[in-house]
Amino acid sequence: MTSISKKMCRKCLERKPVSDFYTLETINDGLDCYCKECRRILLIEWRRNNRNLINAYQRNWAEKNKEKIAAINKRYHQKKKREKEEKERNK
Ligand SMILES: [Zn+2]
Repeated sequence: MTSISKKMCRKCLERKPVSDFYTLETINDGLDCYCKECRRILLIEWRRNNRNLINAYQRNWAEKNKEKIAAINKRYHQKKKREKEEKERNK
């Protein structure tokens, strides 16, 4: 167990209670070096800076899972169709 109750965030340089940090097992004291608030901001910034990367990844994923997506879409449309037919029948 760790004895520290507060930790300084490397981004905002504020000392915050450890509950404001995510736990990371890969780090010495088991806590993230950035507080949750800064992590959130960093993630937003990262997403903004890596939009192309993310889009490319999603395109790639969609390409790889084409059949899966098609199957899901098909199921969805079949369900909608069934619901419509059901409604027609109950008129
Ligand atoms: Zn911070």
